[in-house]
Order: sequence, then structure tokens, then C-alpha cells
Amino acid sequence: MFHVKQSEKQTPNSAFGVDTPLARELADLSARRRRLESVELQFAGDARVLTVSNQKGGVGKTTTAVNIASALASFGAKVLVIDLDPQGNASTALGVPHSADTASIYDVLIDEMPLADIVQQSPESESLLCAPSTIHLAGAEIELVSQVAREHRLRRALDQYLSENPVDFVIIDCPPSLGLLTINAFTAASEVFIPIQCEYYALEGLSQLLGSIQMIQKHLNPDLHLSTILLTMYDGRTRLAQQVADEVRSHFPNQVLDTVIPRSVRVSEAPSFGQTVIAYDGASAGAIAYREAAVEIASNGAPDTHRTIASGQTQSKEN
Ligand code: ATP
Ligand code: MG
Repeated sequence: MFHVKQSEKQTPNSAFGVDTPLARELADLSARRRRLESVELQFAGDARVLTVSNQKGGVGKTTTAVNIASALASFGAKVLVIDLDPQGNASTALGVPHSADTASIYDVLIDEMPLADIVQQSPESESLLCAPSTIHLAGAEIELVSQVAREHRLRRALDQYLSENPVDFVIIDCPPSLGLLTINAFTAASEVFIPIQCEYYALEGLSQLLGSIQMIQKHLNPDLHLSTILLTMYDGRTRLAQQVADEVRSHFPNQVLDTVIPRSVRVSEAPSFGQTVIAYDGASAGAIAYREAAVEIASNGAPDTHRTIASGQTQSKEN
């Protein structure tokens, strides 16, 4: 699915005989960047819908959602990010306006506004789209409770949108909870994508998340499965990070990506410029890692992970 031409040239540092840890790191980064330059990905046009979820706060869900989306767009994919978190952080990072008077995912979920009416283009790329969230979404968890088909609202809107606006990937950024917003994401998606922060409590709460996925599979969306786990904020200097990474890999050998995202100042700075790290500093370690992770995700896309849409209908049972 993608081709990597290995460069046989010597790195500048080894050519000059410099051998320090920093020189080695820089040489490694530039070799990885060159490898990425020769990657070519092909996209089938059937939307893969991934929901980036973890009820733990601050593990890198939003950072992962926007950077994987931007990285996929940089390889030629058309990508829609749905910001399903009232904090609106994904909308901020994609440089998309999301003040209280902006038409947003709230209007889609509560007032059945078509998704096409709220989708905006990120200034970063014309193939990077965002359905923004505003502060109004904070009330949606409660307002949804009394709505008809409350768990299916996002799925219906998305199916309608995709039947008229084909994209390669939909990436949903979830809030840190397992409430009705996240349930809507689980009902709309076929793949769950869990970012795990490489720290001591990493696996705590994960069984609750896996239990929720099983419940959704049984009652609302049989297509849903855990497809991808990405280790984030990895600090290679600590033994703890290595131990956490090993433990997660031993539990989920088929889902954890080989790529790990390093803890990087550039990654955390980018949103304050309304940018992803791919646009903010494409040569940084964080940007390179996110692009490598995107290549893995695109290459892991087996045909059965692609969504089938039959003229806007879903196969899910309605309540
Ligand atoms: P929430 O649960 O509140 O939605 P989240 O899971 O979406 O949080 P993020 O907002 O993506 O997490 O990240 C939490 C914080 O960690 C942010 O300040 C972000 O900039 C920072 N961060 C994320 N990834 C990295 C990284 N690789 N290196 C450094 N900082 C990072
Ligand atoms: Mg977030």
C-alpha cells in the first residue's frame, strides 16, 4: 500500500565523524524524515470512521486526533475531524472559528442541522475539514437524554453527509467521559482509537472503556472494534515509560502501533498558534512521529474496517 525507498546516503553527522547522543538523534530524525518523503499512500475513498477515545483526561486524545488527521491529509487523504468535546480544543488546533454563535456539532445533534452546514475547512489544508464544537455542547449530554434516537444522532448525520461528501477518514475527538456524546461517537464509528499516555496510571480505567465498547457492540453498533492504540508523551529517558509501553504491548499486541509519540515541546506549543504540529514545525520529532503513525494507520486499514453506507441508512437497531 505504501512504498519506502531506503536512502543509502551517509548522514551528515556520521560523515563528519560527530558521535554524540544529540548528533545521533538528529541523524535519526533526518533519516526518518527522508523516508517519509518517499512514502506514497493510496486511499480507496470509502470512509474509515475512527473515534479517539479514553475517558481519562489529558492523555493526548485531541492532540492525536488533529495531528493524525493533518498527517493523513498531508499524504493526500481527505479527512473530516468531528470535535465532540465542549472544550473545543480540536477546533482551536485546526484553526477553525468556534465562538458561541458558530453553527456547530451541537446544532447537528440537538436541532438536526445537516452536518454539511457546519463543516469548515481548516486553513492548514483544503483536504482537512472540521465540524467544530462550541460551548453549547456542554449542555448536550443532558439535552440528549430526552431526544428520540439519542444514541444514533451523530451516526445519522454522518451517514447523510458521507453519502454526498465522500472523505477517506473521519476522526472523532471525544470528551474525557463515557456519556452520551461518547456513545454517539461509538455508534457512528467502526474503529476505536485509544491514545495511552506512558505513565503509571495508564492502564487504569481501560477495562471500563473496553467494557463500554463491548456494550455498544452488543446493543448499538456490531461493527465497532478497537483497531488502534497509540502510546503518547513517551519519555525514553525514564524506565517507567518503557515499562508502561511493554505492558500495553503485551496486552494488545495487535493494536499498538510501532510508532510512539515522544513528549515534545513543539507538540504542546502548536495549538496556541491554531495549528497542528505538522503545520507548525513539520521537521520536529513530534511531527515526524505523528506522520509515521498515520502511515501505519493507513497501511493497517483492512477492507473490513471500511464503512459501508447504503444511501444514508445504517444497520444499527433503533431504540
Ligand atoms: P482532555 O481529556 O481534556 O480532552 P486530551 O486527552 O484531549 O485531554 P490533550 O489535550 O491532547 O489531551 O493533551 C493534554 C496536554 O498534553 C495538552 O496540554 C497537550 O498540549 C499536551 N501534550 C499532548 N501530547 C503531547 C506530547 N507528545 N508532548 C508534549 N505535550 C503533549
Ligand atoms: Mg481533548
